[in-house]
Amino acid sequence: LRDIPDTMLAARAYEGAAPDFRLEQIAVPTPGPGEVLVQVAASAMITGLITNWSRGAIKELPGTLSAEMAGRVAVVGDGVAHLAVGDRVRVHPNLSCRRCAFCLTDREMLCRSHSIIGHASFGPDELGLYRRYHNGGLAEYVLVPEWTLDPIPESVSYAVAAKVRDMGTTFRALQLAAIPAGGAIVVNAATGSQGVSAVRLAPFFGVARILAIGRSAARLEEVRALNPSIVETLALEDLPSGWEERDGVTDAVRRIIPGGPDAVLDFTPPQGGAVSWQTFKALRRGGTGVIVGGNSAMPSMSTVEFMYDCIHIVGSRNGTRRGGLQILELIATGQLPADDLITHSFPLSGVADAVDAVLNRPEKTWWVSVEVAALD
Ligand SMILES: [Zn+2]
Repeated sequence: LRDIPDTMLAARAYEGAAPDFRLEQIAVPTPGPGEVLVQVAASAMITGLITNWSRGAIKELPGTLSAEMAGRVAVVGDGVAHLAVGDRVRVHPNLSCRRCAFCLTDREMLCRSHSIIGHASFGPDELGLYRRYHNGGLAEYVLVPEWTLDPIPESVSYAVAAKVRDMGTTFRALQLAAIPAGGAIVVNAATGSQGVSAVRLAPFFGVARILAIGRSAARLEEVRALNPSIVETLALEDLPSGWEERDGVTDAVRRIIPGGPDAVLDFTPPQGGAVSWQTFKALRRGGTGVIVGGNSAMPSMSTVEFMYDCIHIVGSRNGTRRGGLQILELIATGQLPADDLITHSFPLSGVADAVDAVLNRPEKTWWVSVEVAALD
């Protein structure tokens, strides 16, 4: 065994303190049977984490946040059979019962025991998993059950491996969108972390045309540059004033994609609700709107409109283990470039700068990485 220190640096979240983390030295946990202590190489910061913390949705505080983490196996507990000290791994942070109908059919986010390491708890049945494993990636070490770890190949960087979880949410949304080959999609909030993942992943789902929607024309142009042959843009700042009340986005989308898009991936955050429903309203007959962002805007379509055009609107939360494994494979085989999606990287001691980057977005801000340790 390599020398494991007694204490470690962790960015700790306290009740009511969002978005200010406290950097503290805390005890390094000791793995019990079936558990693994991972030395964290990379974690990440996303807006949703701060949003959930701010609105009191994260239980078990004080705690160490971030569901996105990759590193090296530091210590294995008794009975750990499939991993050894030194293995490069990513944490698949979904905790669930692993035996119900949802868990056995690649839908673990619907399990009654679903919770996420370093993030929130969603299921009504706790199982004690979240209580024991709620601490996540913004620390030098993390304690996890063996079954949450996926080995990662040498060709995948720790920083990218940590983002597989976030990309998995987008992957799942694309699966649910059921896009026909050669189809056209709209991506709302396209300039954020999920938006750029969607631009990279969409071609694997048969998408031939992407209309990226966001506030800023300049930010959208940076997204278009990722794949100029299939990405077009629509900037809300360029629409005539009053678009919120007059279905201005619906009209603009239909002008660009006559007949409407086959699907809308909606990553719109709480403050941008009008866009969600206006893009759903532009869907082609039989099209699918996938809600991933979540906001309080009420539908501006009548049920008759849904019925007449056979529109599907589906909600989606998180990704699945299977999606994560497919993404890893695409990255490892060089089919899915991802390193260039990391626009910011901060040390763990600079976690406040990572928070500032995702909340204020003064420049191109896609994936914000937290480099916890420089590991091989
Ligand atoms: Zn289950």
